[in-house]
Amino acid sequence: MISVFGSANMDLVAYVDKAPALGETVTGRAFRTIPGGKGANQAIAAARAGAEVIFVGAVGDDAFGPAMRATLEEAGVDVSHLRAIPGPSGIAHIVVDDRGGNSIIVVPGANGTIEGPTEAEAAAIGRTDAVLLQLELPMEAVVAAAVSAGGAEVVLTPAPARPLPAELLDAVDLIVPNEHEAAAITGRRDPAEALAALLERVPEAVITLGAEGALYGARGAEPVRVPAFAVEAVDTTAAGDTFVGALAVARGEGRPPAEALRFASAAAALSVQREGASTSMPARESIDAFLA
Ligand code: ADP
Repeated sequence: MISVFGSANMDLVAYVDKAPALGETVTGRAFRTIPGGKGANQAIAAARAGAEVIFVGAVGDDAFGPAMRATLEEAGVDVSHLRAIPGPSGIAHIVVDDRGGNSIIVVPGANGTIEGPTEAEAAAIGRTDAVLLQLELPMEAVVAAAVSAGGAEVVLTPAPARPLPAELLDAVDLIVPNEHEAAAITGRRDPAEALAALLERVPEAVITLGAEGALYGARGAEPVRVPAFAVEAVDTTAAGDTFVGALAVARGEGRPPAEALRFASAAAALSVQREGASTSMPARESIDAFLA
């Protein structure tokens, strides 16, 4: 069983030919509301990849709250620890232009009210095999969840990139940055060097390298490089979140590192061939069929 302590955002996406300048109004081509947020994305990815998943987080009492709760439930995620709090849900206001460039405003809303897991939430997290953390909640909340995780393995996606307190790193078992986050954390551009630097702080690390695959390391072991699957990518949104969710599922099933990474890479490769975030995450049968 896997728990996720993290963000739920409604993505409000406007598609335009050209993004408006300050003071300008433009007519858009299309608009979509897409449930997202790194926490919710990882929870849905893990549930679809075949695990029992508990999501611990918060939504507001606006129209987006129930919509996000329903999306998680439809994916089979246990939302009994999802708080509904007075005020707005978290949103990401996204403008996508005709070249695929985007500008994003994130308003944390309900996510920003979380100070840490309650006693009941910490107990629920402690009963799972692993807790997945990201950095879209207040840092104090992420630290509190990591240090109170009990028997759950702590898996941190350090995104969006922020300075990481020592107290957090001390509690992390596995860190999964992409190459930009790894460089920001370690000051090393070269993935092999960044991996070595990460392993001075945490026992295990995976650096994801987009279409170049992923690099895994554990202290005292030879690094493992796993190539990405060659697929036609149409939308790489949440590739990393899909990868982490699936990786946690494979580790929970006791698969050795190279095999777990291959499973995660397959899930991510399937997701980049579809549009959207939560809408693009593959079901277990699709991952197994892809690998067969
Ligand atoms: P993030 O989305 O966090 O930036 P990455 O871009 O590194 O993360 O992607 C995470 C994983 O998704 C990669 O390690 C790879 O397995 C898979 N992936 C990403 N982009 C592609 C692609 N174009 N083709 C195939 N797999 C991809």
